[in-house]
Amino acid sequence: MRPIQMVDTKNQYLKIKNEVDAAIHEVLDSAAYINGKAVQDFTKSLNDYIGSKFTISCANGTDALQIAMMALDLQPGDEVITPSFTYIATTEVVALLKLKPVFVEVDAKTFCIDPESIKKAITPKTKAIVPVHLYGQAANMEAIMQIAEEHNLFVIEDNAQAIGCDYTFSDGTKKKTGSIGHIGCTSFYPSKNLGAYGDGGAIFTNDEALAKKMKMIANHGQEKRYYHDIVGCNSRLDSIQAAILNIKLKELDNYIVARQTAASFYDKAFANHPKITTPFVASFTNHVYHQYTLILNNADRDGLNAYLAEKKIPSMIYYPVPGHKQKMFAAFGLDKYDLKTTDWLTERVISLPIHTELDEEQLTYITSEILNYLNK
Ligand SMILES: *Cc1c(COP(=O)(O)O)cnc(C)c1O
Repeated sequence: MRPIQMVDTKNQYLKIKNEVDAAIHEVLDSAAYINGKAVQDFTKSLNDYIGSKFTISCANGTDALQIAMMALDLQPGDEVITPSFTYIATTEVVALLKLKPVFVEVDAKTFCIDPESIKKAITPKTKAIVPVHLYGQAANMEAIMQIAEEHNLFVIEDNAQAIGCDYTFSDGTKKKTGSIGHIGCTSFYPSKNLGAYGDGGAIFTNDEALAKKMKMIANHGQEKRYYHDIVGCNSRLDSIQAAILNIKLKELDNYIVARQTAASFYDKAFANHPKITTPFVASFTNHVYHQYTLILNNADRDGLNAYLAEKKIPSMIYYPVPGHKQKMFAAFGLDKYDLKTTDWLTERVISLPIHTELDEEQLTYITSEILNYLNK
């Protein structure tokens, strides 16, 4: 059996090696390392794929979120509602920009931000909501957009884990996540579903004025070279990464199917097990399985983790500490938070290896060892 990894980017690369290597060499020969043709080609292909009006590439997913928030003219102390149960990047940029993160609950079944919890957290200072499409399925965007409209709030989708995910509205229309809110952000970190071989990120919007502003912000606040109209930053996707991503984008739908196939193998193996809750997929979304995350019921999670490590099966806890318990946010009065669902999930979730290269032998081994341990 081939060794099992949490994500197997190496074997995925080997399948497209010739094409990728040629594309990298083309960039090297062109000497257009920054903002070359590859960046323009990829940005256009990605824009078509997501179905957004404007796509701006940038250096990473965290920058994408920062640039989005910088474009909204928020004032220090303005409140941004985010789930506590997410990767730190979502909430960190809020604090970095001197805004106030307001942590709310997630739905206990989907792990995504709970619209009812958003409603309760709105104050006159609330300016934006950042739903995260956690683990690869969409948050309840229809409800979130409705709340945002009622209260005149911006919605920035954190789509770093769900690129390619399809959201279905109640009238049957479908949109890709990242194209639904006022702004969508994504990451091309190597382990993401559309991963580069280095860092990268992108921002989506249908609003022309916002697009223009975000493009300027990502480029030192200039439109015309050396004329800097607003304070920005320096955030670029380099040409080599763009060339790689342009090839991988053509594979993305196949990659999603491979992840879904592995997920359904797990689903079947664990079905109806009293100690395991397999991922629940809400009716308005599909799941692109950036993570395959179980909820353990009355099981010894640390024991399972250690047992799997012994059997050379990697597993991870995403995430061991929720935002409302992170020391970096101490100034925001963390004691007042009582997020029972988030705390409950934090103690019970465990993520299994999921990627495009898992074979049946590996999946059989992983599932049988997990069942071995839990049935003891
Ligand atoms: C990966 C990730 C980010 C940040 O992306 P980087 O490219 O690593 O900066 C933001 N939010 C979520 C939910 C992520 O998973």
